[in-house]
Amino acid sequence: MKLSNRAESLKPSATLAITSKAKQLKAEGVDVIGFGAGEPDFATPPKIVEAAIESLKAGETHYTPVGGSPALKEAIVKFIKREYGIDYSAAEVTASCGAKHTLYNIFMAILDEGDEVVIPSPYWVSYPEQVALVGGVPVIAEVGEEEDFLLTPEILEAAITPKTKAIVINSPSNPSGAMLDGERLAAIAKVIEGRDILVISDDIYHKLVYEGEFASILTAAPSLKDKVIIVNGVSKTYAMTGWRIGFAAGPKEIISAMEKIQGQSTSNPTSFAQKGAVEAMVGDQTCVADMVEIFKKRRKLLVDGLNEIDKVSCQMPTGAFYAFPSIAGYFGAKFGGKVMKDSMDIAAFLLEEAKVAVVPGTPFGAPTNMRLSYATSEKNIIDGVKRIKEAFAKLEF
Ligand code: PMP
Ligand code: GLU
Repeated sequence: MKLSNRAESLKPSATLAITSKAKQLKAEGVDVIGFGAGEPDFATPPKIVEAAIESLKAGETHYTPVGGSPALKEAIVKFIKREYGIDYSAAEVTASCGAKHTLYNIFMAILDEGDEVVIPSPYWVSYPEQVALVGGVPVIAEVGEEEDFLLTPEILEAAITPKTKAIVINSPSNPSGAMLDGERLAAIAKVIEGRDILVISDDIYHKLVYEGEFASILTAAPSLKDKVIIVNGVSKTYAMTGWRIGFAAGPKEIISAMEKIQGQSTSNPTSFAQKGAVEAMVGDQTCVADMVEIFKKRRKLLVDGLNEIDKVSCQMPTGAFYAFPSIAGYFGAKFGGKVMKDSMDIAAFLLEEAKVAVVPGTPFGAPTNMRLSYATSEKNIIDGVKRIKEAFAKLEF
């Protein structure tokens, strides 16, 4: 059967693929250490779980309004007020089945065939694929390690064309962990001001910050409110990846177009998961600080360990839970006659030889790097780094 061109040209999610490959090998009894996971390894805090159970017991097992129940919308409005200091009405927010779904709805709502979206690299794997899936054109604005993976106004300016419809900002970033400060965001906002361009601000890692303060483009430039769509969710902050609740806040017309699209595709996000998300966002927040503290310790352990490996260099990420070392020093090296050409070869070699699963940088637009998630135990980090070091020592030039 001939599948659609859309389906045929879409790349599968590399982050999901490597995580499920590591899980599968583990289930087969292989001693794999997985650094692939893009999700907290903690259990969802009990109070959140209880809220969902109560919701089920209360019979909240039916459709809700498409963009979320009034209680969920109220919680999103409160969350954004508390976290960003910005006021939105219930009509300016909407919930979907995870932030990934929120982003997809946004691209569906704003892009026509050929419209361009500027995506700074390295980028999360799903942005260019989603843009292309709805007929848009991803325009990659390369931001190198020389810029500390931080978008500059000049790089943005150079990527903008008359067809630019939107830009994506993801700070702290997946995969680099780099975070834009208020000053840089204000400079980026100047490029947007006066232009008919939307900013999609994916702030899914905004609570997972280890140095400095999270800033959003809207706190840096409040006058951009009619051009910015904030994307956030409960997956990462509250260890709720399986619950599938994400949301957006932005101009009413875009929000209502997203709800129209969602109303003809998935309808509302799961009713009782919504109740868990309400508890997460407006309930006691100490669970977040506890998780951040643990991630912070692991971050240092992993990054210091990686930097001790010959020819590996890794910046200290400011946020999220990923390290993104450069491994280009091993390109051209050989193992058993096979030449390591890029991060895909290195990731395959590490899985085969060291039984360590990492995500190659190539699907993030950075073939010289690889991504390791530190949402795993200290023991796994120590053992995993040791395995990587030993495997790299076997490579020959
Ligand atoms: N944005 C980024 C940058 C991410 O890393 C993720 C992780 N999956 C998402 C959005 C989507 O998160 P979710 O769909 O679980 O809410
Ligand atoms: N965002 C996470 C990651 O980058 C989860 C997997 C995914 O949705 O891409 O690994």
